[in-house]
Amino acid sequence: GEASSAAHTNGKALKHAVLDEEPVRQNFNDKISLWQGDITEFQADAIVNAANKSLLGGGGVDGAIHHAAGPDLRAECLKLHGCATGEAKITKGFRLPCKHVIHTVGPIGEKPEKLRSCYLNSLDLLKEHELRTVVFPCISTGIYGYPNEAACLVAIESVRHWLETGDNSSLVDRIIFCLYEDVDVDCYEKHLPTYFPPV
Ligand code: ADP
Repeated sequence: GEASSAAHTNGKALKHAVLDEEPVRQNFNDKISLWQGDITEFQADAIVNAANKSLLGGGGVDGAIHHAAGPDLRAECLKLHGCATGEAKITKGFRLPCKHVIHTVGPIGEKPEKLRSCYLNSLDLLKEHELRTVVFPCISTGIYGYPNEAACLVAIESVRHWLETGDNSSLVDRIIFCLYEDVDVDCYEKHLPTYFPPV
């Protein structure tokens, strides 16, 4: 569809987004970027997967990540024995250009505390593994049915909260929101400047 062709034509700029060599769609507060396209194309330290509790693959972004990573990802996930809603677990990226995949399980429906935990636990895991760049999809807004604008507000509020906690901000270089659908681009472009004023 439209989103995947945008990812294709912007593939080069997308890689540079992580290296900060070329302007991205938006660049807030030096640490936050928006991108529209396919999350599997990112050469980041970690991409986040909106997984299900089994961690064994599913539809949507989960299916795309497992497809691109290859069968070794499922084999490593099997050893993790699932993941609770709001929690996060990390694997290698295998055939993906990113080094790691952080698998988090979003809530089904509008449960803000659970969704918030997904973002905070993913970022804590990033820090624990001394990784510096991470790409988030719009967790729970697809098959799991979380309303887009409400989910966007939870995502950006929780990321800001995490960056403002202790010395977290100095431990990461870039947090990228990878948006796939136009509705999410509208939401993030509307709300991000409030939480992360442009520099
Ligand atoms: P959930 O089950 O958590 O709702 P989904 O994968 O169904 O997860 O949807 C989450 C978001 O990921 C949706 O906005 C969907 O459009 C988006 N998405 C689907 N495929 C990709 C992809 N390849 N890259 C980035 N985002 C994607």
